[in-house]
Amino acid sequence: MDCLFCKLVAREIPADIVFEDDDVIAFRDIAPQAPTHILIIPKRHISTLNDLTEEDCALVGRLQFTAQKIAKEVGIADDGYRVVMNCNEDGGQTVYHIHMHLLGGRGMAWPPG
Ligand code: C5P
Repeated sequence: MDCLFCKLVAREIPADIVFEDDDVIAFRDIAPQAPTHILIIPKRHISTLNDLTEEDCALVGRLQFTAQKIAKEVGIADDGYRVVMNCNEDGGQTVYHIHMHLLGGRGMAWPPG
């Protein structure tokens, strides 16, 4: 298993986990780009957004709903937050196990870099 996030799911590498259920795990990003920067990932390995199938629709919805729940729990929901999923090189993806970034605690610029 070469995937960093699969290793994290298997507890082979440490992480500051903030949420977990049967399908999803969420943890604080090691290089935060905002006061709140949490990654929400499926436990099952999916390399990129391009690899999603119709059967994964509920799982992706679960990632989004988990982001909303965490945003409320950590107190950034009312002021607002951003969720981002990067795909492949031009999208800025560096870890090839899909993940949703939850960013908040400061105002966000648009367009993103
Ligand atoms: O979207 P992208 O693939 O670039 O995001 C990967 C994210 O995973 C980065 O924000 C990086 O800081 C984070 N990361 C992490 N823990 C690791 C390795 C990477 O939080 N052990």
